[in-house]
Amino acid sequence: MFSISRQLRREAKTVGFVPTMGALHEGHLTLVKEARAACDIVIVSIFVNPKQFNDDTDLEKYPRDLTADAALLAEYEVDYVFAPEQHEIYPEGFATYVEVEGLTESLEGASRPGHFRGVTTVVTILFNTIRPDRAFFGQKDAQQVAVVKRLTTDLGFETEIVVVPTVREQSGLAMSSRNSLLSDEEREKAVFIIEALREAKLAFKKGERNASDLTQIVRDRIDAEPLARLDYVAVVDRDSLQPVEKIGDDETLIAAAVYIGSTRLIDNVILNRKQ
Ligand code: AMP
Repeated sequence: MFSISRQLRREAKTVGFVPTMGALHEGHLTLVKEARAACDIVIVSIFVNPKQFNDDTDLEKYPRDLTADAALLAEYEVDYVFAPEQHEIYPEGFATYVEVEGLTESLEGASRPGHFRGVTTVVTILFNTIRPDRAFFGQKDAQQVAVVKRLTTDLGFETEIVVVPTVREQSGLAMSSRNSLLSDEEREKAVFIIEALREAKLAFKKGERNASDLTQIVRDRIDAEPLARLDYVAVVDRDSLQPVEKIGDDETLIAAAVYIGSTRLIDNVILNRKQ
């Protein structure tokens, strides 16, 4: 990968990069399409990064299907699939980590200690290896977007971070590799997550500005569903991720994490979205 990316730079090609953990779905493929449209060369990485899992069972049961993924990516005219072995990313004696402070302690960071340290470390290694002009990330992982933007600004990466809106199933459920772990019944119930968030967004559109009232709407809706258990719901500034009590004019997220059975799913909606 090092020598390929060196050669691409020599040829002055623009490189678009889509980092993934595989088990690809329409969400990932939308990122790929955006990259294809914007760059000369598209590189997709598939690496289930053990360092961003804080739970061994979660890592073990994470879906993997490299053969199906490679076939899909061929259809989308991806130039390179980078699917490294663990030891290639983390050589023996590996001891260097990258940590973004502040943005990583709340929400996903609170529920999954060490998660973002794993994400920012692997993103740094992948960016250093590939040196992309643009890297494409999904809005579904809103906190990841804020953290990766901070990382690239702070460490002076020349990579532009492009954010792609969340791709959903017809039901509204955000596409996720983890959806394949749901039973049919759980999949139906998982739609409640976006329905609850959309109900809160509707209340906002009708004039509700108190974050606590908006989160209560989500809480009530999720609590009413026996198969669902709310991990968190929060109203935060889109960039700083600081909690917002009274919503003003800035772009603001209502973000939630919900267990459906034993599968943990996340989703968010944006208030005051600026185009
Ligand atoms: P993952 O394989 O889950 O690590 O995701 C790889 C990239 O795809 C991340 O930037 C995710 O935010 C993005 N992604 C995952 N699901 C979706 C979705 N439903 N819509 C848009 N982007 C997504």
